[in-house]
Amino acid sequence: MYKIIDGKKISQEIKDELKEKVSALKAEGKNICLAVIQVGGDPASSVYVGNKKKACAYIGIESLIYELPEETTQDELLELVRKLNNDNKVNGILVQLPLPKQIDENEVIQTIAPEKDVDGFNEKNVGALCVGSKGFVSCTPSGIIQLLKRSGVEISGKRCVVIGRSNIVGKPMSLLLLRENGTVTICHSRTENIKEITKQADILVVAVGKPKFVDETFIKEGAVVIDVGIHRDADNKLCGDVDFERTAPHTSAITPVPGGVGPMTVAMLMYNCVSSVE
Ligand code: NAP
Repeated sequence: MYKIIDGKKISQEIKDELKEKVSALKAEGKNICLAVIQVGGDPASSVYVGNKKKACAYIGIESLIYELPEETTQDELLELVRKLNNDNKVNGILVQLPLPKQIDENEVIQTIAPEKDVDGFNEKNVGALCVGSKGFVSCTPSGIIQLLKRSGVEISGKRCVVIGRSNIVGKPMSLLLLRENGTVTICHSRTENIKEITKQADILVVAVGKPKFVDETFIKEGAVVIDVGIHRDADNKLCGDVDFERTAPHTSAITPVPGGVGPMTVAMLMYNCVSSVE
């Protein structure tokens, strides 16, 4: 019988631990403030920003929400980021992605001061992860490490396969698994005979961005499967990159969608905000 890795429960545990830390920091006179910038009114982004605001309020972090119009220029956005970089009251800055077409996402990310880049996307933080020094780690992959550790899944020495090599999920995920002493292979759209590789995995992380891409034919019996994808299926129901019904019975543990990786991303953002002050 397989185990369902409960991201809702684990993210709640993390938020409760952080709430205690924040109240201890407040007792020492230290406040935490996160600035969140949203450009345009994309409904999904508005939901994500709302969730971040709610999590901040729960933990005791002040949130400053900047809702800029769709037609905001690159210069206007960069000016706001620079202003927040220089504001001592602000500990963390997050620019909600995606941004409208007229804005160069990478320039915006690289303009955020690395010590306030709680999303961990700035090159300095990515470089720190690469060489194993201190820095912010991007939230979805670090949330996955927490899911594995808090569910008692051993990473050290295990064969880990990551499907996907994006800068926000696949690449940092692979580096984190390596940091935990996993033996890591990365698959992508040019990988040949992908099933031969994924079938060797003790831990398979799927961040391919395609609904129900992975089924039981991709996995070794008893593997641990982590599903990063979020999609709506034909019936408008949420689903992941993994076909849960077909795959789960062949795993030892698996994350569901919803309620797996998703809730961890916000919890780890809160973790990064708190560590920016600690
Ligand atoms: P992405 O930027 O689209 O990257 C997808 C990756 O999958 C790419 O590296 C691509 O390879 C690879 N790929 C595409 N088709 C493939 C194939 N047929 N075989 C093997 N590899 C293939 O996506 P992402 O931003 O990493 O996100 C992945 C998924 O996670 C999406 O569903 C996204 O919505 C979800 N997500 C969830 C959270 C959360 O909080 N739960 C956070 C972020 C993302 P190439 O590099 O060769 O193109």
